[in-house]
Amino acid sequence: MQPRIALVTGGTGGIGTAICQKLASMGHRVVSNYRDEARARAWQAQRRAEGIEVELVEGDVSEADASAEMVREIEARVGPVEILVNNAGITRDTTFHRMQARQWQEVIDTNLGSCFNVTRPVIEGMRARGWGRIVQISSINGQKGQYGQANYAAAKAGMHGFTISLAQENARFGITVNTVSPGYIATDMVMAVPEEVRAKIVAQIPTGRLGRPEEIAYAVAFLVAEEAAWITGTNLSANGGHYMGW
Ligand code: NDP
Repeated sequence: MQPRIALVTGGTGGIGTAICQKLASMGHRVVSNYRDEARARAWQAQRRAEGIEVELVEGDVSEADASAEMVREIEARVGPVEILVNNAGITRDTTFHRMQARQWQEVIDTNLGSCFNVTRPVIEGMRARGWGRIVQISSINGQKGQYGQANYAAAKAGMHGFTISLAQENARFGITVNTVSPGYIATDMVMAVPEEVRAKIVAQIPTGRLGRPEEIAYAVAFLVAEEAAWITGTNLSANGGHYMGW
């Protein structure tokens, strides 16, 4: 396995942490972004205690200029981004007839806009070097829709269109572009849902449990491997059988 430089956006979150841990354990040099420095440094210290070094660079991925600046800093401090995992995401749930423009826009900008904001500054370098791996973390709810999540489902479904177009444009340059669509994972995002609602969700999952962040990290590790060079423009569902469509 050749060590690569990997940028995981939202690496300090539930799923992001597992992705950083997995890529670091594979020998890659991992970088992530932060917005709250004190929280991020505490997270970094926890990773160090585990024997994992993750570089941290400030950056709000919902902003194009801030993302371009973040990538410039990473490339100056660490080197060219060879693996990009567009993982940062938020929810602002409410039924559409109550949704405010701000709730729509924040979710679109953070989940989908970030794919443009962060991928655009790294793609030319990947093309010039003839190698790259790009993975978007979408969601089961971008595949099947979800009551109260018109904003989130629209953003997550948009990531698939982004993936398959980018995959076509860059396949000849040794760059693969894929999406991982997690089902419900036992992270803060899902554990914040009332217990009775969570029980109803679990009842719909054939494996009978929520997923683990490491199970999403494993899907990412598979797609970014050197050996995965023939897998591009695909969507890998990791959802315990909860949704078996595309
Ligand atoms: P978390 O809320 O635990 O982590 C989200 C991460 O994204 C945090 O590090 C957060 O940083 C970062 N982030 C949010 N907004 C921005 C921004 N504007 N700029 C930079 N960083 C930002 O979420 P999860 O780990 O649960 O989710 C990770 C991804 O997986 C998301 O895209 C989510 O939609 C997706 N997903 C999650 C599922 C689940 O069950 N948990 C299911 C399906 C998909 P900060 O600490 O600064 O807020």
